[in-house]
Amino acid sequence: MTPDTSISIKTPEELQVLRKAGNILASIVNEVKCSLKSGVTTREVDQKAEELIRKHKVLPAFKGYRGFPACVCLSVNEEVVHGIPGDRILKEGDIVSLDVGIVYKRYYSDTAVTIGIGKIDPILQKLMDVTSESLYEGINKARVNNHLSDISHAIQEYVEQNHFSVVREFVGHGIGKRLHEDPEIPNFGSPHQGPVLKAGMVFAIEPMVNMGRSPTRILGDGWTVVTQDGKPSAHFEHTIAIGNNGPEIFTK
Ligand code: MG
Repeated sequence: MTPDTSISIKTPEELQVLRKAGNILASIVNEVKCSLKSGVTTREVDQKAEELIRKHKVLPAFKGYRGFPACVCLSVNEEVVHGIPGDRILKEGDIVSLDVGIVYKRYYSDTAVTIGIGKIDPILQKLMDVTSESLYEGINKARVNNHLSDISHAIQEYVEQNHFSVVREFVGHGIGKRLHEDPEIPNFGSPHQGPVLKAGMVFAIEPMVNMGRSPTRILGDGWTVVTQDGKPSAHFEHTIAIGNNGPEIFTK
């Protein structure tokens, strides 16, 4: 079990930088979302994101991270996370996870949304809605004196009540001076386990939800995570802080 002490507590000054980073990231993502249209390649979306990241005078967090070649992850349909932008052309009816990270004044912020291209099958819309709602269920448990796994449990319970499954091989994370800090934040688990949450902890919470079964595999490119059963998957993520008056979403 991760000891409480390995989770960094941010100072008010650090929280102010992280708040601003989240704000910038949210506006970048809002603009990039507009370029997710039928007929564009995922590479073109990445180029647009890079332009916007430079325009806002922040740095892309993912480009070069362990050799990742792009500024954003774009994961289409059966792709869960970590899709590499390339020649894939978005088409009507696709669902696309757009995951973006930036660095602002040496602090990281990380967020993801899943967007439907044009007219979407109602069951895919349901998958996206449940995934987004499960993120808020988790965030709602990110409160002082709760345990870490209360977040995990709330996400799993909400997803399974809606007859979808949570991905287990990939998890949320602490964030701050590094993109991935302690603790790991699974999207499943029993409640009341793990570290006790304290004000000043900053987390990237990110449910990945599959329409079919939970297991995933990684493609030969070494990055792209897909569902083993080939069924669609959705992904939402916010960077949040635990405050004395409840959770604060930085990337809204
Ligand atoms: Mg993340």
